[in-house]
Amino acid sequence: MRHCCQFRPDDIYYLQDNDNYSSRKLSIGFCPICGKPVAELIQWRFDGKFDRDCFSGIKANDLMLKHKNEIVYSIKELNYSRFKSRPFGWKYGINKNVKSGRKDLVKQYAADFYGNKELIKSY
Ligand SMILES: [Zn+2]
Repeated sequence: MRHCCQFRPDDIYYLQDNDNYSSRKLSIGFCPICGKPVAELIQWRFDGKFDRDCFSGIKANDLMLKHKNEIVYSIKELNYSRFKSRPFGWKYGINKNVKSGRKDLVKQYAADFYGNKELIKSY
């Protein structure tokens, strides 16, 4: 995102689709040069174009408050649960061959798309 310079957002919120837009993302961060809070809303219209709104200072706060009930999840929340939880959502199976002495072991895992993995059985 951008204010006095280009910088990485502190967090990104994914918002629900509404009547006009989908893939709505609200990024928030603090400008490393002037220290102001910056909020940027990018949302795709159904005709394939996107709109970008970017506000700083008190207006960034207003933008955040306006959309806070539409938040589905945030990147921080997702990263947090990645380290906390077992696989969730859509899962797929992985079989791994492991050499153990002279024997071949097969380890079976359930995995999800968020990087969580759980050993189901080995034989
Ligand atoms: Zn700035």
